[in-house]
Amino acid sequence: MKKLSLLIMFIVGLSAYSEARQVKDHDPLIERKIDSLLSLMTLPEKIGQLVLFTSDIDVTGPTIREGYKEDIQKGLVGALFNAYGAEFTRDLQKVAVEETRLGIPLLFGYDVIHGHRTIFPISLGEAASWDLEAIELGARIAAIEASAEGLHWTFAPMADISRDPRWGRVSEGAGEDTYLGSAIARARVKGFQGEDLKATNTVLATVKHFAAYGASLAGRDYNTVDMSDRELRQTYLPPYKAALDAGAATVMTSFNELDGIPVSGSKYLMTDILRNEWGFDGFVVTDYTSINEMVPHGYSKDVKHAAEQAINAGVDMDMQGAAYYDHLEALVEEGKVSMSTIDQAVRNILRLKFKLGLFEDPYRYSDAEREKANVMTAAHREAAREVAKKSIVLLKNEDKVLPIKKDVKTIAVIGPLADSQRDLIGSWSAAGDHTQAVTLLQGIEERAETSVAILHAKGAEIEGSDSTGFEQALQVAGEADHVILALGEAYWMSGEAASRSNLDLPGVQRQLAERILALGKPTTTVLMNGRPLTIDWLDNLPGAILETWYLGTEAGNAIAEVIFGDYNPSGKLTMTFPRNVGQIPIFYATKNTGRPFLEQEKYTSKYLDVPNTPLYPFGYGLSYSTFTYSDLALDKEEYRMDETIQVTVKVKNDSDVGGEEVIQLYVRDLVGSVTRPVKELKGFQKVYFAAGEEKTITFQLHKDHLAFYTATMEFEAEPGDFEIYVGTNSSEHLSASFTLLE
Ligand code: BGC
Repeated sequence: MKKLSLLIMFIVGLSAYSEARQVKDHDPLIERKIDSLLSLMTLPEKIGQLVLFTSDIDVTGPTIREGYKEDIQKGLVGALFNAYGAEFTRDLQKVAVEETRLGIPLLFGYDVIHGHRTIFPISLGEAASWDLEAIELGARIAAIEASAEGLHWTFAPMADISRDPRWGRVSEGAGEDTYLGSAIARARVKGFQGEDLKATNTVLATVKHFAAYGASLAGRDYNTVDMSDRELRQTYLPPYKAALDAGAATVMTSFNELDGIPVSGSKYLMTDILRNEWGFDGFVVTDYTSINEMVPHGYSKDVKHAAEQAINAGVDMDMQGAAYYDHLEALVEEGKVSMSTIDQAVRNILRLKFKLGLFEDPYRYSDAEREKANVMTAAHREAAREVAKKSIVLLKNEDKVLPIKKDVKTIAVIGPLADSQRDLIGSWSAAGDHTQAVTLLQGIEERAETSVAILHAKGAEIEGSDSTGFEQALQVAGEADHVILALGEAYWMSGEAASRSNLDLPGVQRQLAERILALGKPTTTVLMNGRPLTIDWLDNLPGAILETWYLGTEAGNAIAEVIFGDYNPSGKLTMTFPRNVGQIPIFYATKNTGRPFLEQEKYTSKYLDVPNTPLYPFGYGLSYSTFTYSDLALDKEEYRMDETIQVTVKVKNDSDVGGEEVIQLYVRDLVGSVTRPVKELKGFQKVYFAAGEEKTITFQLHKDHLAFYTATMEFEAEPGDFEIYVGTNSSEHLSASFTLLE
C-alpha cells in the first residue's frame, strides 16, 4: 500500500507538468494521470496491462496456464478472470500492488451471467419475462454479490441475436429479436453498472460476443458466419450498440469469422464500427484464446502474426492466449506494431481502473464483511423467486388443468428433473451453489397443504435407454389426482460448446411422458431446458405444459407458485419453437418471398412434410386470464416524417382472475427500396389487468421505428404504406394501416 501511495503521489505530482490529452468527454485529470503513468512504464509493463489470464479456481475454456501468480508478481499481467472471493482477490491484488515496480492494481473479471451466488433464471428464461425492471434487478443483484467478492468486471450481457436453437448458447442471450434484444441488453447493462462505476456495488459490463456470433452456420458453436453488411447492421449489431449506448464499459470479441475475417482480427468491426462510427472509449477484450485461433482459422501464419493483426485491428486485451504476452514486445521492436497503438490500448484499460477507484484503494471491492453481509441474502433469494416466476411460460393449458384444483388429495411429482438441484442453476452459473437450489419436488412439498400427499418417482434418467423406472412412476401416477412431470435437458446440454442437432427430449423421456399421459390423469409437464425444443407430440397430448427453463436458486418455489395459482403466468417466448429441426432457422421476422405460402398452391415457399408455421410463435405464452383485443386504431391515416404515430388498442381481461399481459406491436413496411420483413416488433408493454378490467393501451411510433438500411445503406424511413399489428403474440393480432408521406 505504501508503494501505491508513493506512486499516486508521483503521478499526481508529475501530472502537473504533463500535457493534458484533449479527449472528448474524458475526465482530464484521469487522462493526465494516465499520461504520467505511461511515461513511467517500460514496454513489458505496458504489455502486461493488455494481458488477461485465468486463475485456477474455475475453468471456462480449453487451456490453463501455470504460473499466473509469478506473472502478476513480475508485472506482466494486468487482469485476471475466474478469480473471486474477498480473500483470494485481496491476496492476489496485494501481489500486484506491493510486489511490482509500479504497483498497478489488477482488474478481476468473471462470467457473472445470471447471478453470482444467488442464481437467477438463465438469460433466455429471464428474457421471457419481457419485464425490463425484473431483468435489471437480476443484473443489479448479481453485481452486488460479485463486487462484494472482489470482482470488478462481468463478461455479460451476451447480446447475440440467434435464430437457431441448435446453438447451445441461445440460453445465454435474449432470443431472436433485435428490438427486444436491444431493450434487454440496455436493462442488463444498467443493472450491472448502476449509476456509478466507482460505487463498490457495481461492476463493469462487457457486451459480447461482438459480432454476430449467434449466426454461426448450422447452429454449430464457433462456426463460420457470413452475411450481408445490411443484415449485420439491421439485425445483429443493434443490441451491442444499445448496450454501449447504455454505457457498457467493455466489449468482447467473438470466436467466429465474419465475411472471411476472424473477428479478433477485424479492423472493420473493432476500429471502423466500434471506435469510429460508435465512438466507443472503453476497452476491447478477446474471447478465450481467440487471437491464437486466427491460426487454425487460416488468417494468420502463426500466433505472432495473429497478435500483430489483433492489436492493429483495435483489440486491447488478450484473454488467456498469451499472444500479446509472448509476441508484442518483438512486434514493437520490429516496427510492426507502433508504440502509440500499445499506448492507446493501455490507456483504454487504465482509464477504467481509474474510474473504478482502484488507484485510490485497490482493495475496495475485496471486502470480507460485505461478502458476508451481501451474498445469498434472504432479500436476494426473494428477488430471484420473483424474477423466476415471471420467466415461466405457460405453453398449453387444456381443460384448465392449471392451476391445480384446491381439492386434490394426492400429487405425484415424476421425472428426471423433478428433484434435480444441479440442473436448476443452468450453465454459466458463476459461483452459484446448486445445493442451495430449491427443487421442484421441494417447492411442491413446501407449498402444498399438509393434508395433501406428495408422491415422487424419478421414472428415468435424462439420457439413456433405461426404462426400468417406468413401472414405479406409473404406479405413483396412478395413485395421484394430479401428476407433475418434470422433463427436459441436462444443464450442460446448453451453453458453450453445447450445440445439438436433435432437439427432442433426450433419452426415454418421451416414452415416459406418453405412458404417464395415457393414464388420463390431469397432468402438468414442467419443461426445464436451455433452448426451444421440438415437442409437437407433447402439444398434441392432453394436459398443461409449463416452460420453466432453468430458473435458478428459487426455481422450485417459483414453479409451485404458478402451479398452485398464487402467481398467474405471464412469460412469453422470445424464440420461436419449431415443429421439427428441418424448419430451422425459423423466426417470425422473415421475408415474404416471391411465392409466399398458399395451402392449395404447389409452387409456393413451403415444405412437403411440415407446415411453415412454428409450434409456438415468438411472443407466445398463455395466462390463467383470457385477454381480448379490440378497437385497434391510429390517430390518423397519413403521417409526415416528423409526426408521431399514435396507436391505441383496447385490451380486456375476460376472466375472473387478475393477470399480466405482454401487449406486442409489430410493423410491416409493405414496399421498400430493399425488401422488408413481414413483421418486426417495435413496441411492447407488460400490463396488469384485474379480473374483468379493460384498458386502452397507447403506443407511440416515430420515424426511427420505421427506419432501415435502404438500398443506399442510409438508415432512414421511406415514404409508403405500412401495416401495424397489435396482439398477444407475433401470430395472433389485430391490424391497421397508415401511409408515411415524404
Ligand atoms: C466464452 C465467453 C466467456 C469466456 C470467459 C469463453 O469461452 O465464449 O463467453 O466470457 O470464455 O470465461
